[in-house]
Amino acid sequence: MYCRNCGNTMSENQAVCLSCGVKKGNGNTYCPNCGTNVNPEADYCTSCGVSLRKGLGASLVGGGVNDQNKLILILVCLFLGEFGIHNFILGETKKGIFRIIMSLCCGIGYILALIDLVKIALDTYEVNPNKLI
Ligand SMILES: [Zn+2]
Ligand SMILES: [Zn+2]
Repeated sequence: MYCRNCGNTMSENQAVCLSCGVKKGNGNTYCPNCGTNVNPEADYCTSCGVSLRKGLGASLVGGGVNDQNKLILILVCLFLGEFGIHNFILGETKKGIFRIIMSLCCGIGYILALIDLVKIALDTYEVNPNKLI
């Protein structure tokens, strides 16, 4: 397979591209199947016909919220949101750790999770790994 960000060859069990450091499946400029430079908006590779829409696995790690993982995120948020698990899934590690501390110290993690839940449901949730709240 090829890195979706730089088109460099990478092996199936490699988690991160050794050439550009981007996580496997992230990026949208190269076809993972044939390595052709593709339009970032393209749904299918014009060269080999493979689907370029991110699979559930790839989109759950750092790919933000989309229709495919929205339901899963809502469920995770509902049951585990208190501990920021949905933040970790979205790649927002800082936020996730902050949530755990908030839950352990003053028990407001669940309130923050409910706010996220509403935002995810309304499609207004913005993934930002640098923000705490
Ligand atoms: Zn790369
Ligand atoms: Zn292709």
